[in-house]
Amino acid sequence: MKAFVLIEPGKVGWHEAPEPTLTPYGAILRPLAVAPCSSDVHTVYGGGSKKAPNLILGHECVGEILETGELVRDFKLGDVVLVPAITPDWRAMGIQEGNFKHASAPFSGHQLGRTAPGVFAEKFLIPDADTTLARIPEGVTLEQALMCVDVVTTGFTGAEYADIKIGDTVVVLGIGPIGLMAIEGARHLGAARIIAVGSRPVCVELAKEFGATEVLNYKVNLLEEQREDPLGGKVNLLEEQREAPLGSKAGDVVQQVLERTGGLGADGVIICGGGDEVFAQAVDMARYGIGTISNVNYFGGTGNLPFPKFSGGRGMAGKTIHTELAKGGRIRMERLLKMIQYGRINPQKLVTHQLNGLDQVETALQMMKEKPKDLIKVMVRIDWK
Ligand SMILES: [Zn+2]
Repeated sequence: MKAFVLIEPGKVGWHEAPEPTLTPYGAILRPLAVAPCSSDVHTVYGGGSKKAPNLILGHECVGEILETGELVRDFKLGDVVLVPAITPDWRAMGIQEGNFKHASAPFSGHQLGRTAPGVFAEKFLIPDADTTLARIPEGVTLEQALMCVDVVTTGFTGAEYADIKIGDTVVVLGIGPIGLMAIEGARHLGAARIIAVGSRPVCVELAKEFGATEVLNYKVNLLEEQREDPLGGKVNLLEEQREAPLGSKAGDVVQQVLERTGGLGADGVIICGGGDEVFAQAVDMARYGIGTISNVNYFGGTGNLPFPKFSGGRGMAGKTIHTELAKGGRIRMERLLKMIQYGRINPQKLVTHQLNGLDQVETALQMMKEKPKDLIKVMVRIDWK
């Protein structure tokens, strides 16, 4: 079967892969809609752990069941189901200790396109269908369902681990798709004030729609200058915004947050984007005694993240730090789908681009890497007829 694979670090391509073998609790599916994501970009271009040769990529998918194992109870041929990005092995012993994401090994919950063949193929296997696949309620669109598998659950995980209470002030650092859903999650958990940090106009607009009460730009401020016109008179020149990565000193986000909170800082800080420096900024802007930092951002490479001694109270500031992989599995997905079904959230607008046909996965991955300015997520629809 045709599959889109990681040939070697930094190199992707199409490969004739063996078909998956059905397991008693498993199901074989074909994808109806898939989305590449930043973590696929990290897997391909960002290094990380060693991967199997010709690893089939992809972990964001809505699929159709082609075959079920003899012990599958709840699903049958032809069912259209949501496939979570995070698929814990519910039979792993660590589960009994509440360790859902790293039960049997670091990141054991993240299998698809990492330690197991992913969804960018004509067929793929889900080894335990009943505990993994989720039913999609009537009225939920393909785009909405697809956004739940990773983007919504990751953003909401960020908000949940920020320990948000009614009336809290929450900062969301980074407003890509995950940050946007962290804003939505923070609003539902009771945050009064949500300060979002980001600059891409397409995202700023949605950040406000999803519940941000303020949006701070981390880029250098616009400098307006007056210059002499050679023909006489004055002209106003607006200096271009210079790109300064989130985490750099340029926009002085920490200063802006402290000023806006009377010097106290935020009750919760959710990290959804940025380089290594963003971690220190999160500590800087969290409230002493009760501030909680919740990270769902991927920090590539090796080495250490900076922990600021001063705002960290020299190790005694009473600030809590959570570092989290998204929640996955069937029940989590069905709960998120209920949020859509009953009109509480609508992640439809995150899908800004659509392509058609499995072979477009390659283009879609490049789009996620290069991020054209109007892109949030690209969905690839696959029509098998
Ligand atoms: Zn993803």
